[in-house]
Amino acid sequence: MMSVTEIVNKPELSKQDIIRLLSITDKREQEALIKKAYSIKEKTVGRKVHLRGLIEFCNRCQKNCLYCGIRSGNEKVTRYSLTDEEILEVTAHALKNQFTSIVLQSGEQNNRDFTQRITALITNIKKTTHPEFRITLSVGEQSFETYKEWFDAGAERYLLRIETSNVALYQRIHPDNALHSFKTRFHCLENIQKIGYQTGTGVMIGLPFQTIDNLADDLLFIKAMNIDMVGMGPYLEHADTPFFKYKDSLLPLIERFNLSLRMIAVLRILMPDINMVATTALQTIDTFGREKGLKAGANVLMPNLTPGKYRANYLLYDNKPCIDEEADECMDCLANRIKMIGEEIACNDYGDSKHFTKRGVSS
Ligand code: SAM
Ligand code: SF4
Repeated sequence: MMSVTEIVNKPELSKQDIIRLLSITDKREQEALIKKAYSIKEKTVGRKVHLRGLIEFCNRCQKNCLYCGIRSGNEKVTRYSLTDEEILEVTAHALKNQFTSIVLQSGEQNNRDFTQRITALITNIKKTTHPEFRITLSVGEQSFETYKEWFDAGAERYLLRIETSNVALYQRIHPDNALHSFKTRFHCLENIQKIGYQTGTGVMIGLPFQTIDNLADDLLFIKAMNIDMVGMGPYLEHADTPFFKYKDSLLPLIERFNLSLRMIAVLRILMPDINMVATTALQTIDTFGREKGLKAGANVLMPNLTPGKYRANYLLYDNKPCIDEEADECMDCLANRIKMIGEEIACNDYGDSKHFTKRGVSS
């Protein structure tokens, strides 16, 4: 059998190679994988961390994903929406703190009031921020026309996780109705890319019923789709969701965590120049989870800038960190933590995905 060092140095990884790397249980083998991924990261995207300020501006959602804490069926959640003024205040704060990019995230709605509001917000944010921000949207499945309207208004990036690339698993983790269709989600991702957004996707790791084979396919899906930005992290249970009943059948948290690091490392080897987030879900399992994600090959962090009073109502999973903090406190600890691992925050740089920039030149 080939050693991990031999596999990671092959010019191309086969699906069997990926399965072997994701299945590592030996600590030294995992270190060898991560070391290789980090050396690729250093050569391609460098030791710079790009910050995106995350604004969870609304927790109303028309969908009822079986794993998500803010699903429409969870009646314990107090629903909120930040006002436009509050969102502009947060963007001003982000600008003052040298962020060059924000992510507007919410539950999914596609009524005209919601979509028009976003168009106006994008226009307003672009008009009122100097220098300009890069705006990322993460507001779910929308029509081609809506995605186009937002792109034309100035949004440059869109995050839509496919959640899993396996159709049967997708169906098992969502209600069985037209609102939760793999085909629609996939089609949305294609439209986002066609319109010209820097396109982001990702999956949850350690879902009930998920296999290593599924995860290897997820990585190959992301590569085949030529994705520019990836956010993938551990699935974490939430007590008020239907999936909580599977909590005892899941991989133990520490294994889910290590598997997530291996997913990041393998993807960095497969796609050396993409942007990849070290997710908050990693930090939920391990206090230094995001730093470990950066060491495994991620190069983006998304500090939460949502005003403190709203955070307790945007709990996708249990034990989400920093829910009783205001943005400033989080920023201080973040800068030190990044320095501690020998990296620095990339200031004065939009942090566009190098993969996207190259894709643009060649297409
Ligand atoms: N509503 C939009 C959507 O679904 O694309 C954007 C917001 S949604 C909360 C963002 C992501 O949260 C989802 O794509 C999903 O991967 C993640 N998420 C939801 N529930 C989760 C859980 N229990 N554990 C880990 N991630 C979760
Ligand atoms: Fe809504 Fe997104 Fe949660 Fe699904 S994952 S319930 S679409 S917020």
